[in-house]
Amino acid sequence: MHPALEARFKNEFPTLFRDSRVRCYIENGWEGLLRILCLTLTQPDETPSDSEFESRTILIQVKQRYGCLRAYISSTAARQRIKFHVERESYLVCERCGEDGRLATVEGWISTVCQECADMIRADGKEWRWLEVGFEDESDEDES
Ligand SMILES: [Zn+2]
Repeated sequence: MHPALEARFKNEFPTLFRDSRVRCYIENGWEGLLRILCLTLTQPDETPSDSEFESRTILIQVKQRYGCLRAYISSTAARQRIKFHVERESYLVCERCGEDGRLATVEGWISTVCQECADMIRADGKEWRWLEVGFEDESDEDES
């Protein structure tokens, strides 16, 4: 993610980015998804036991992994579930431009891109192809 954009997130969500070493290793196309995640994580929870925990929610790391946005957070189970939904959504959003995307391999790396970005990758002479995969259960969800 562009450093200026990352700095804007850190300014906007200081409680989530309490640890200044946290970096966002994602492309700019996922800005919208990251924003939804940050806004949701800073909303008060419905359950009282969670609300006292709210101010303690922090981001540990944000990165792209196998074409998916992965956000490692320290928070409640409810917020982990919200986070999981945003991560799943990222399989459908081009990480480069934010348009509708799908999984592809680009030079051997799994990436989520739209048709237009795929055309640009091809025009650059890079090796790429669409990936046909289902959503398998990710048992390593909270691995860090
Ligand atoms: Zn794109």
